[in-house]
Amino acid sequence: MSFNFPSRRSVLTGTAAMGAGTVMHMASAEEPVIGQKGATIIGPRNPEREHQNPDILRPPATDHGTVPNLRFSFSDAHMKIRDGGWSREVTQRELPISTTMAGVNMRLKSGAVRELHWHKQAEWAFMLAGRARITAVDNDGHNFIADVGEGDLWYFPAGIPHSIQGLRNDGCEFLLAFPDGEFSEDSTFAITDLFAHTDREALSKNLGFTERDLDRIPEKELFIFQSEVPPPLEHNAVADERGPVPETMVFRLMEQPPDNSPGGRVRIADTRNFLISTDVAAAHVEIDPGHMREIHWHPNADEWQYYISGAARMTVFAAEGNARTFDYRAGDVGYVPMSMSHFIENIGSEPVRFLELFKASRFTDVSLAQWMALTPPDLIAAHLKIERDVLDKLRKEKQPVV
Ligand code: MN
Ligand code: MN
Repeated sequence: MSFNFPSRRSVLTGTAAMGAGTVMHMASAEEPVIGQKGATIIGPRNPEREHQNPDILRPPATDHGTVPNLRFSFSDAHMKIRDGGWSREVTQRELPISTTMAGVNMRLKSGAVRELHWHKQAEWAFMLAGRARITAVDNDGHNFIADVGEGDLWYFPAGIPHSIQGLRNDGCEFLLAFPDGEFSEDSTFAITDLFAHTDREALSKNLGFTERDLDRIPEKELFIFQSEVPPPLEHNAVADERGPVPETMVFRLMEQPPDNSPGGRVRIADTRNFLISTDVAAAHVEIDPGHMREIHWHPNADEWQYYISGAARMTVFAAEGNARTFDYRAGDVGYVPMSMSHFIENIGSEPVRFLELFKASRFTDVSLAQWMALTPPDLIAAHLKIERDVLDKLRKEKQPVV
């Protein structure tokens, strides 16, 4: 029996035709064979995983050397299941290189609450589906309460206590990001945990209650619990003489006009338009089929990525001859250390949508094409042996998607 091994190009085309998320049964055609090199796998294998990672199974010829793992999927993360929802996290524990950022994916049913809590790190969030009500009170006694929907961001500064509650009809699902790879949603400061581990007499004295008022407090942390759907926002506010927080904690990212490139759209949220978000800068990127996020790098921070839809692959150049390509799809986390150049290609038939997050107050990137366009062409030609009239085609304007 003989197989005809397709070229890398035809494998990709086949993948594109199927679209992301389609279950394929042609995995036997995918082998680590490129031209005359390589050989078929005759030992144990996991065709589904190999199919999702065509560029790991058959790396591009330009891949070389040792680059650490730059991907972890939320699908492989432990599910913490509670009454009313769940959460799962990708931290430095799951993806060791991600020292600057950790992420949490959480689902709350209608009325379910991520309980009142705080943590050492700031919290940046993106609503993936549905609606939630969020509350916070800052260190000067200003309160904040808002409803957020799909495409909205929120940001709670470090240490500021807050809550999240799912609204009608089916609650919500969101991504949380924390500018610290060692963050864990398991080690936050929860109000129920505080009450369970504080002397009753001290609590009642502190709050002006009687000890009997505290008879029914929970014995341990709730984390996520089912509750009633709150009333409309205008009936749920608490009067605060000091007024609301000076900087809003919500940003309607997807209502912003995008920076349009041919074949893509980019929306940036950092301290230039979302003033309170001092510890996390973000870009929401859309790449249409056949297009790519241009070759670039970030001079100020590592990049933590979350893929929302589509099928993508990213090649990262790590200097000293090292480069590696990874495949990504919805629910995957990617990572790029500061200053390593990278590009992301849409290899599917639907738009790729993903978030680029940075532990920084400003989004910054350096474009390879713009650098070359704004450098004396003779100098570029002397390095790369490219004709002058070819170099004249370089764009002087940055174009995030090409
Ligand atoms: Mn939190
Ligand atoms: Mn980037």
